[in-house]
Amino acid sequence: MERTLVILKPGTIQRRLIGEIINRFEKKGLILAGMKMIWLSDKILSEHYAHLREKPFFQRVKNSMNVCPVIVCCWEGLDAVSVVRTITGATNGRLAPPGTIRGDYSMSIQENIIHASDSLETASVELKRFFNDDELFNYETILKLSLYANNELDS
Ligand code: ADP
Repeated sequence: MERTLVILKPGTIQRRLIGEIINRFEKKGLILAGMKMIWLSDKILSEHYAHLREKPFFQRVKNSMNVCPVIVCCWEGLDAVSVVRTITGATNGRLAPPGTIRGDYSMSIQENIIHASDSLETASVELKRFFNDDELFNYETILKLSLYANNELDS
């Protein structure tokens, strides 16, 4: 099973969409391995968005991420990284297809509701950035037998 990071951005908190967004991941069949509310510092945001540091919007994006606390979540499942990215949709909410989270809830390239890790390697680095080991949980859920075929659970 893979694990991936999702951040419910300040826009989600401000617009009271927390429940709706979490509901999407739960209904899909992803399993919540960890979740907490945190107020992100400029330092951690500089690390998280290091790939954007040469972009003119770098500081603006970081500022938008600390207007209020965010909610960081770890979702688990088979191919969780790509499944979550597909549900998330394209960066620009105006271009993201309907049915995706950004397609349904965002009109902006910057204010695009959630962050989702873009690869397995990134997910591993990002989960370590936002969670301590004892904040991520392994637990059995009987639901797994309805979510996956036996052979998928063995893989
Ligand atoms: P994604 O979040 O889809 O993986 P990126 O890693 O390229 O996209 O960008 C990180 C975040 O920076 C985006 O989610 C968005 O909030 C913001 N961003 C990206 N491109 C732009 C842009 N051209 N103008 C303003 N904000 C942007």
